[in-house]
Amino acid sequence: MTLVVSHNPARPADILTETPATGRQGVLAAVERARAASRLWAQGGAARRAAALHAAAERVEQAGDELAALVVREVGKPITEARGEIARAVAILRYYAQQPYDPVGSVHEPAAGAGLLFTRRAPHGVAGLITPWNFPLAIPLWKAAPALATGNAVVLKPAPPATACALRLAELLDGVLPESVFTVVPGGAEEGMALVDGADVVSFTGSTAVGRAVVQAATASGTPVQAEMGGQNAALVLPDADVETTAAQLAAAVAGFAGQKCTATKRIIAVGDPGPLRDALISALHALRTGDPADPDTVCGPLISAAARDAVLAAVSGGRLLTGGVRPAGLDGWYAAPTLVDRLPEGHLLATEEVFGPIAALSSAPDLDTAIACAGSVAHGLVSSVHTADLDAALRCADRLATGMVKVNAPTTGVDFHLPFGGEKASSHGPREQGKAALDFYTRTRTVTMLSAA
Ligand code: NAD
Repeated sequence: MTLVVSHNPARPADILTETPATGRQGVLAAVERARAASRLWAQGGAARRAAALHAAAERVEQAGDELAALVVREVGKPITEARGEIARAVAILRYYAQQPYDPVGSVHEPAAGAGLLFTRRAPHGVAGLITPWNFPLAIPLWKAAPALATGNAVVLKPAPPATACALRLAELLDGVLPESVFTVVPGGAEEGMALVDGADVVSFTGSTAVGRAVVQAATASGTPVQAEMGGQNAALVLPDADVETTAAQLAAAVAGFAGQKCTATKRIIAVGDPGPLRDALISALHALRTGDPADPDTVCGPLISAAARDAVLAAVSGGRLLTGGVRPAGLDGWYAAPTLVDRLPEGHLLATEEVFGPIAALSSAPDLDTAIACAGSVAHGLVSSVHTADLDAALRCADRLATGMVKVNAPTTGVDFHLPFGGEKASSHGPREQGKAALDFYTRTRTVTMLSAA
């Protein structure tokens, strides 16, 4: 029997879950039960779905302290950010709880003759959700809430390192949603692929390599699919930016939650002389508290695994180390100090891949156009930030940076769940998620033509 095991990254001997993997047949059986349940759920009326999502928000909110502590313990997210994630999860549920009352189509005149044309959106059936470990509640819920609001049943395959969080979420939603409308299937790649094979619509978030395999399998069987994948996000700092403020913002975007966010800043490009920014960044990264994620002052907690920590430590080689690049003294868990490098040779790992940890590369460009070209020179295109008081430069960046999201004087990290979220190039595939965009993804549109019989 395969076991799904999750550890506390701050104290690896502390094991949170040791649960049997669901197995392929188990996943397919869960999908069948979900499909049967989805029919009644879809036909049960808007008021029922809205009430259920409101009740789900209540349950999550009431369990907020316990959930935040679980997130800290299972994935090492600093407690302040963990509390923020719970608050966001509650807000997402409340936002989508309103949606069942929204229009599900539109009415039109026929092009010729008397009659009526209308469109109507209907749920797909079973939404198969495959999620990463780094937002163990917010990501499952920002997929599940719109899927449920539009009348789908959900089968969620969480990432193994976040299994306890997903199972606790399922317990909290038990009784709020009808049986089999929300099911968690613990497991890894085998269970993920089984879900892609069985579900009627697939939403994936995770690494680019796995996302591509998921997209390929879903597309081959004609299943609608969206995938949100990695990032190598750049921050462009113009000479007019306030150096201290910008450095503090960037340090948190590089090393907050040990840089384990798809939106973390991985590359910093100074336009003009990088010297003042370099010094300010080194100080700001030093000033961040690295340590126990249960401490409210901690910004940079542990990494999710020893392998992830080792990847950060290895990634500095070839460049000039400005700060970090070591395991902080006196900490047992899988920690790496906030790390900054510069003078990277062409084709260095940090320019070609997402290194999922508290590490960033600093470079410089002689002018904004070169900086924009440099920012766009990587495979990914999730989010970028530009730091300047120059409106013209900000607008040029918003137009020309090849990323799905552009932030001006704000860090690359942080998401507004009521707007479409997603990237360009290798970062995303398919329609956007979150906001109203998600409601389209979880439904199919039918166009009905009715002409007068006479
Ligand atoms: P991962 O790709 O290893 O795993 C993601 C999910 O896919 C997990 O549930 C995993 O069990 C499952 N899986 C693994 N192999 C599979 C297969 N062959 N078929 C089907 N499913 C499979 O990612 P991770 O380590 O959990 O998360 C970190 C990654 O997620 C980073 O690359 C990060 O950038 C990305 N991420 C992206 C976003 C975004 O919105 N763009 C948000 C958060 C995280």
